Amino acid sequence: MSDELRPSHEPAMLNNSDLEPAAKDERFLPLVVLGEMVIMPHMTIPLQVPQGKSYRAMERAWDEDHEVLLIFVRENELEGYKSSQAQQLPPTGVIARLEEFAKLPDGTARVILEGLHRAVIHQAVQIQPFYRVSCLPVHDSDVDGMEIQALMDTVKQQVDEFVDHLGEVPQEAIQFVHRIDRPGHLADIVTWGPAFDFRDRLDILNTLDPVARLRKANMVLARQLELLKLRAKIQQDTKEVLDQSQREYFLREQMRVIRRELGEDDDSDDPIDELRRKVAELKAPDYVKNQALHEIKRLAQQGMNSPEAGVIRTYLDWLLNLPWAEEDHGEISIVEAQKVLDQDHFGLERVKERILEFLAVRKLAGNKMRSPILCFVGPPGVGKTSLGRSIARSLNRQFIRTSLGGVRDEAEIRGHRRTYIGAMPGRVIQGMKSVKSNSPVYILDEVDKVGTDFRGDPTSALLEVLDPEQNNTFSDHYLEIPFDLSKVIFIATANQLEPIPGPLRDRMEIIEIGGYTEDEKLGIARGFLVPKQREFHGLQPEQLEITDGAVLKLVREYTREAGVRNLERELATLCRKVARKVASATEPGAESGPERYVIDTDDVATYLGPERFTFGLAEERDEIGVATGVAWTSTGGDILSIEVLPVKGKGGLLLTGQLGDVMKESAQAAVSYVRSKADQLGIDTNYFEEHNIHIHIPEGAVPKDGPSAGITLTTALISAMTGQPVRRDVAMTGEVTLRGKVLAIGGLKEKTLAAHRAGIRTFILPKENAKDIVELPEKVRQDLNLIPVTSMDEVLQIALTHPAVEVIKPVATV
Ligand code: ADP
Repeated sequence: MSDELRPSHEPAMLNNSDLEPAAKDERFLPLVVLGEMVIMPHMTIPLQVPQGKSYRAMERAWDEDHEVLLIFVRENELEGYKSSQAQQLPPTGVIARLEEFAKLPDGTARVILEGLHRAVIHQAVQIQPFYRVSCLPVHDSDVDGMEIQALMDTVKQQVDEFVDHLGEVPQEAIQFVHRIDRPGHLADIVTWGPAFDFRDRLDILNTLDPVARLRKANMVLARQLELLKLRAKIQQDTKEVLDQSQREYFLREQMRVIRRELGEDDDSDDPIDELRRKVAELKAPDYVKNQALHEIKRLAQQGMNSPEAGVIRTYLDWLLNLPWAEEDHGEISIVEAQKVLDQDHFGLERVKERILEFLAVRKLAGNKMRSPILCFVGPPGVGKTSLGRSIARSLNRQFIRTSLGGVRDEAEIRGHRRTYIGAMPGRVIQGMKSVKSNSPVYILDEVDKVGTDFRGDPTSALLEVLDPEQNNTFSDHYLEIPFDLSKVIFIATANQLEPIPGPLRDRMEIIEIGGYTEDEKLGIARGFLVPKQREFHGLQPEQLEITDGAVLKLVREYTREAGVRNLERELATLCRKVARKVASATEPGAESGPERYVIDTDDVATYLGPERFTFGLAEERDEIGVATGVAWTSTGGDILSIEVLPVKGKGGLLLTGQLGDVMKESAQAAVSYVRSKADQLGIDTNYFEEHNIHIHIPEGAVPKDGPSAGITLTTALISAMTGQPVRRDVAMTGEVTLRGKVLAIGGLKEKTLAAHRAGIRTFILPKENAKDIVELPEKVRQDLNLIPVTSMDEVLQIALTHPAVEVIKPVATV
């Protein structure tokens, strides 16, 4: 192809006067201007042609050699070619043969045109009565090669794919395409397909190089195929959504029909109206009602069946069921309160007094006064919850209780925002929903079990709940609107004081309730638990008597606890068994039982099976290497034995029995102390190099920790090494320094109670704790010989049967 034959992409300008000398193959053909229907070489197309320049051009060609030049222009440019003005000509056209030219009665002509080959257009040589242009025919050059073959295969494959998507394409057409063996030809034919628009077709037409042309066709096909696939996917997705919603619609319709058949149809009650009515009746401040109405409006807009509807209705359910309004409880009566507290509880004089003071202040100062929150601290089963319940009863208020044990997340107190799936209000608001007034007595159990982690600090949320300055507008994330908690009487409870976060402790008035002595338990059982359980089980007082001996046996051998929870459970079991006997005796034909059941000490085992704990001292004899300590746990105090066994070895130290880090350290410190005192204690200097020391604290499954076993460890060690037995009726508690000083400990009350329960006679305690002795129950002070000490030497003097060291100070007895 010579240079001058290259199509200029600038359309050739009409140039009538300036005719160049004709090239060898140059043709001067009548011009037929067609619209956007491009007739490529090798295509045959019938057309109906109206009067005009193109009509006249074809009329002339029919008389000449039947050949015309076709050009294709946009519909809006067609008009111009009809005028007498010269128009811009495109660079390329198609030389076509007129197969038929038949004039029809309506003035138009029916023609059949067959495209032959491309022609590069030079210029128009005539405009009227039709255009005639000079042009040079272009034939595709012969090209071949692997790459071209591959390209052709690709395009044919694309055509197949297209046909797959479109369907309904005649098989012959596809076969025809597959038979084409020249790239330019293939490109021309595929442009006929729907993938190509006018612009693509013109571009292909203007591309004279057959390979470049096929590449272009390949690109267009690839792009269109991608689009087709996307479209198919979108259609599929839409269809699925439509199918689903249609299915739901049918199901709902069916449901409606079924309900109508069942007579459950309540179409008349518009749920939206129903909700509006409830809001109108709701006793609540305006901001609550406004919020509810706003949500109802949203619900109405979204429709009851919208996915959002469930969420909105749940929210409305909360708004409509919370106690926003205050209830009138009347005056607080201190006399009445005292009566109720005494009716429900044995002893606890100081606790009751403190509660009455609290109520008195509330009565006089009302809500003006920032009264602190009461916090009852003590082991389980000592009556913390039941005191709260009594306070509610004496004030004629409702009572709720929520446990905070294991709360680690701020959201558990304050709720999750509504945007979370399955969001709910926090525990405080959940509790409030269960009562009908906004001024109940609210027990927050286990404030010592509130933890902190990465999800935020629940303490700060709790502070907001409890702080009288802030809690009148407590904000729960879920509710979004403030809730007034200022009328609520909060009472916190905890088993231990130490784990309660500092800021929380500062806000609270701590009232410690220790464990009960045997006598107190007896009193509680006699005066409260037995009558209560008898009544629960439908028994008359004259039908069942449980003697003091039996109760004492329960206390000593069936329960081992600081409070009375298990004792109450065992009493309940006794009542249940008797109730069964009484009930079956009344049935016809049954043997009549006794009128009155008396359960005495010896009967307990018949009802409850063998005892669970042995009562009495931990050891049966004074032992070498075994000392009795006392531990303080969240469930009260307990005694524990510490065993030391030196065996032949190389100075190792072995600790077993689930000891915490602090206790391990005190064991090491105890060994160091004993080594430093070896001389004085008469222990051979080589002893430690030649022995391994094994320290064991039985009840292996119970974790033990804390420094207060220091003196017990040291005593057991010295006993083991010197061979002097430890007195079995002595229990001790105290931290010890490396120099043998005895330091203060916590939980004295629980520890002495545990020792008392176990039948210990002598109790060694740090001197620094001596000031707490007055707080101990009378009975404990009477029965236990409480000896405060300052040094390890004093401990040994008391605990070992033949002390090896001289007494430094006289032993003080309190
Ligand atoms: P806590 O909340 O401290 O774990 P509870 O309040 O649940 O303990 O008490 C357990 C049971 O013991 C309750 O039935 C309670 O009435 C009873 N109780 C505890 N202390 C006394 C007491 N001093 N007088 C009468 N009953 C008591």
